[in-house]
Amino acid sequence: MSFASLGLIDQITRTLASLSYHTPTAVQSQAIPAVLAGRDVMAAAQTGTGKTAGFALPLLQRLVMDGTQVASNSARSLILVPTRELAEQVHESVRAYGAGLPLRTMVAYGGVSINPQMMRLRKGVDVLVATPGRLLDLQRQNAVRFNQVQTLVLDEADRMLDLGFSRDIDNVLALLPKRRQTLLFSATFSDPIRALATKLLDDPVSIEASPRNTTVTAIRQWIVPVDKKRKPDLFLHLLKRHGWPQVLAFVKTRKGVDQLVDLLDSKGIAADSIHGDKPQPARLRALDRFKAGEVRVLVATDVAARGLDIEELPVVVNVDLPIVAEDYVHRTGRTGRAGASGEAVSLVCADEVQQLAAIEALTQQTLQRKEEAGFEPEHRVPQTDPGGQIVKKPKKPKKPKGFTKDAPVVQEDVRFRR
Ligand code: AMP
Repeated sequence: MSFASLGLIDQITRTLASLSYHTPTAVQSQAIPAVLAGRDVMAAAQTGTGKTAGFALPLLQRLVMDGTQVASNSARSLILVPTRELAEQVHESVRAYGAGLPLRTMVAYGGVSINPQMMRLRKGVDVLVATPGRLLDLQRQNAVRFNQVQTLVLDEADRMLDLGFSRDIDNVLALLPKRRQTLLFSATFSDPIRALATKLLDDPVSIEASPRNTTVTAIRQWIVPVDKKRKPDLFLHLLKRHGWPQVLAFVKTRKGVDQLVDLLDSKGIAADSIHGDKPQPARLRALDRFKAGEVRVLVATDVAARGLDIEELPVVVNVDLPIVAEDYVHRTGRTGRAGASGEAVSLVCADEVQQLAAIEALTQQTLQRKEEAGFEPEHRVPQTDPGGQIVKKPKKPKKPKGFTKDAPVVQEDVRFRR
């Protein structure tokens, strides 16, 4: 199947050829005709499936074909995303896919000065990629109006709800024209997402590009049981033993991220970090350095789990398991992208068995355990069964009274009291 056969115009198919996109992915072949036809879409598609082009290509084409001039301080389409990193990445893709098209695009997110964003909005934009909070700030300052919005995309909607954007999304929705096209993309479909879909979408085309709540199958996944305090050393050991050229490592806390980066630095391993405390320019710099290969290990909290698009990343290491099981799917989605194979390794301590069980239940698999010689845990990680339940160790039968080892002593005592 070709992109042209999906109804895309020459200008766009030529751009795709220059990007070496020859065949549409599953989500693209389903989403592109539906979006071009003006339908609402509800798509279960995780990162790595080519979902961005799935909504961006037909969106760009519709905006060009429609040809309406955008008014000042207006937007003709909105793409809402949960994180700054994803905003940058989606905008980069939109720009690449729309090369040569007469459309103005921009990205807006918090943590950076609002003034340049307000300036750019003066002339109006055809595509506005934004995080919900900053979008509302811009709207409140009259920098942007939504009456020209004809298409709304909610990308990684599940993540938006996880990050507490539910109210912001409602506030944005209240400001949009009732007649519009809405596209909802989500890696996972929980009940709150289904409720949002029911509220938002009108007779949507349902697309399921990957089985529900599964990790990308091309990824080899396993866990290494280890004691909590030995995780940093085990990470260094695995890095050396496997000779991984580049690793994205996830750590639970910002402090933990800094500690691991310091340890790697002290061993002469180039490392950088991405977490919520870092100003946006520093996060983007870290990501660019990683992408350019200047940094071997990028250590991140879950803030960064979404939206990183790094080609041919071979390995993701979960130094800590995520608190929310869905984040495991998002994290491992960083590797094995666009059909490339990858590895996802999780260092699991006894405290994390509940999280492990939840991940296994969600992804419907039992992760293979591989103990690492020299790192066998003192506190064993309880076994889990294929349903993601923790297997309780059978209790030792209670010894009947009177037959204990010290029974004779008791009898002596008794005699003594007499
Ligand atoms: P996404 O799921 O949108 O983040 O895309 C994942 C990766 O696949 C990105 O690096 C895209 O550039 C790439 N990609 C998307 N669609 C195609 C395609 N049809 N052919 C080749 N690469 C693609």
